[in-house]
Amino acid sequence: MSARIIDGRVVAQASREATRAAIADLPWRPGLAVVLVGDDPASAVYVRNKDRAAAACGIVARTHRLPADTSDAGLLALLRRLNDDPEVDGILVQLPLPPHLRQDAVIDAIDPARDVDGLHPYNAGLLASGRPGLVACTPLGVMKLLAAAEVNLAGARAIVVGRSVLVGRPMAALLTNAHATVTVAHSRTRNVAAACRAAEVLIAAIGQPEWIGADWVGPEAAVIDVGINRLPDGRLVGDVAFDACVGHAGAITPVPGGVGPMTIACLLENTLTAARRRRGQASKNVLF
Ligand code: NDP
Repeated sequence: MSARIIDGRVVAQASREATRAAIADLPWRPGLAVVLVGDDPASAVYVRNKDRAAAACGIVARTHRLPADTSDAGLLALLRRLNDDPEVDGILVQLPLPPHLRQDAVIDAIDPARDVDGLHPYNAGLLASGRPGLVACTPLGVMKLLAAAEVNLAGARAIVVGRSVLVGRPMAALLTNAHATVTVAHSRTRNVAAACRAAEVLIAAIGQPEWIGADWVGPEAAVIDVGINRLPDGRLVGDVAFDACVGHAGAITPVPGGVGPMTIACLLENTLTAARRRRGQASKNVLF
């Protein structure tokens, strides 16, 4: 039997519409500052898409473009200004940064209350503690897809393949908080295929084109493919061999059209969340 296809475009559209409607009801508009360093073409496209999506749902978005040779000090100075700007509710630094910049120091410099990418260690710590904070957009999007597909997580055996700060680690924390029993696999894990086969929920976030084949997928498992990989012929594929796995899984996301659209939708939602929380509190850096 063929798996149910989880359509990320439909779920993302509903989420964006909910954010737009919520913002339309507010007497003010949330502000989002996007910082782009250098001229990486893929990053420029992502930033343009974020800008457009933000504007379409009523967020006042402003992109700050800095040259590729920007210093740590220059970037940190901009972040200090944005942290102090009352019109800015959310700050997003487009990653990856040029290699001479210290990514950790840059993320640490973002006010956690405005950290709409959810990558600041303070927000990561809240998530790991099972407390509310701003959650990384891509794993948050995965949770929404699982909810939309009515996958029951409580007590389920879940595996996250990949342990990055951006995806794998927050993903594992979210699933744990949702009462799944979670295995995290990575490049040193022995026999990843067997561990995957035993899982009822499989999240792939490794960045290896079509790495996960049908014999990795347990019967009726829910498979969420975070990977986005461009093949030499120009095609975009995930980390899961979709055509091979679709006959084994219970539900599966395609690439493109699965997790990808959710990331931007969750950024918009996080911006609204940050804006609401900031306005509900008396002072800046309210989380400390
Ligand atoms: P990283 O390269 O930061 O992390 C990859 C992780 O996968 C690492 O933990 C690595 O292990 C592990 N890994 C790599 N190869 C294997 C393997 N063969 N078996 C088991 N584990 C392996 O990638 P990201 O987490 O940033 O991204 C993962 C994928 O998700 C990429 O394709 C990226 O493009 C995509 N992505 C998609 C987004 C979206 O919006 N849909 C957003 C963000 C990312 P180790 O730690 O041991 O090195």
